[in-house]
Amino acid sequence: MNQRTHTWIAARAIGLLEEEGTEPNLAALLRHFAREASVGAWVPDAQDAKRGGAGSKTENHVLKIAPYEGRERARSTTSKDALVAELGQHRATAQFLRADQRLRPEWWGEPYKGDVDKPGQHLPNRAMALSTTLKDLVLLGDRALISLLPFPVDFHSYMHPDCCTAEEATAMYFFMLSHFVADASMPCHCDARKLTSYSGGKIHKKWEGHWSRKVGTYFEKAKLLPWGVESIAPNAGPSSDEVIQKAQDIDGNFGIDLSSATVPDLQPGHDVWLELIHVCRASFAVASVVCPPDEYPYGDDDQRPEFDVVLGNGHSQLREELDMAIMHDAVLNTAIVWKHVWNKLGGD
Ligand SMILES: [Zn+2]
Repeated sequence: MNQRTHTWIAARAIGLLEEEGTEPNLAALLRHFAREASVGAWVPDAQDAKRGGAGSKTENHVLKIAPYEGRERARSTTSKDALVAELGQHRATAQFLRADQRLRPEWWGEPYKGDVDKPGQHLPNRAMALSTTLKDLVLLGDRALISLLPFPVDFHSYMHPDCCTAEEATAMYFFMLSHFVADASMPCHCDARKLTSYSGGKIHKKWEGHWSRKVGTYFEKAKLLPWGVESIAPNAGPSSDEVIQKAQDIDGNFGIDLSSATVPDLQPGHDVWLELIHVCRASFAVASVVCPPDEYPYGDDDQRPEFDVVLGNGHSQLREELDMAIMHDAVLNTAIVWKHVWNKLGGD
């Protein structure tokens, strides 16, 4: 997804957290810096943010899944019912897959696994690492940040103020986390077939361009932060109210209705890593609906259909269903993971 789509997803997730209302302090923290979602939600894709293995090209933004031929078949096989149960009915992608008849039972009976070049270097690990670090950084927060937590932090009196995490920095890390969660919701990030690669301008790039046009130019960084962060005047540029409202106004473009959405915690036994493994498996299944393996076999790198062939006007119903499901879940997944990180601070 490109900069404005990532920004919209983060801004919309702030609004969703507010509407849902169970973590008002987290929502208030993020709301205050809503415009800066245009930096934080995008920075993981910036070239300099990929130095030192932090983003390592795009490996940490994807979990490219492929048929698995090793010995651990059972561990790598998930039935449709099991995956839908792991995702939960609150996810539109789960509902889409449950209703889908295009992927046959035989497809669901096969094992699939991440085709990862360097062990451990993939999206769920990156999101897990960032969410763990984010908990540390919140606990090391300055007085304003700590005051948002429902418990005291005893070591705070030993912390030099310069070592403490500012509210603005914390918001930035939450926005960065939203980037990886949103990437997991994008089918092309989760399918090892070459037909999903960004280069070459086929499905991946065109699909993102299609969403980007629906999001619109309001969410461009240059519009939300026209003078850059350093030179920004206190009341210059759009207010948080406006950014969050404009984000909500986009819902109709994707056919999304989040008006009665809840933001559940992760299921028992799940952590951010496992949650995103399931989200990536669902995204892989969606990619396999869009580009059926009967026509575009796994392992066949020559088949690279155009966007218009698989999601053009001949498939407008599928395209619209997926516009809704993918964007609904990108927003919801972001809110779920943010809320889980925040909640977890008060747990064990
Ligand atoms: Zn990315």
